[in-house]
Amino acid sequence: MVTKVDIIDANSSNNNDLDCYSLNDQPMTCGLCGSRTHFDEKDDGTQAHQCLNTECGYKFIAIEDID
Ligand SMILES: [Zn+2]
Repeated sequence: MVTKVDIIDANSSNNNDLDCYSLNDQPMTCGLCGSRTHFDEKDDGTQAHQCLNTECGYKFIAIEDID
């Protein structure tokens, strides 16, 4: 049986500890180094991002700004 494994969840037992950013019309980039990020969209509409810079690896949550 194959289970979809979220790379961020695999490395973090609690996403509630992650910093949270709101999405806007700019592409989301790492809040620390500005590199591009990999993200997985969650069922609740939030995005779990991880910096693609291996020396950074910053993880954060992005939430769509509904306005
Ligand atoms: Zn980074």
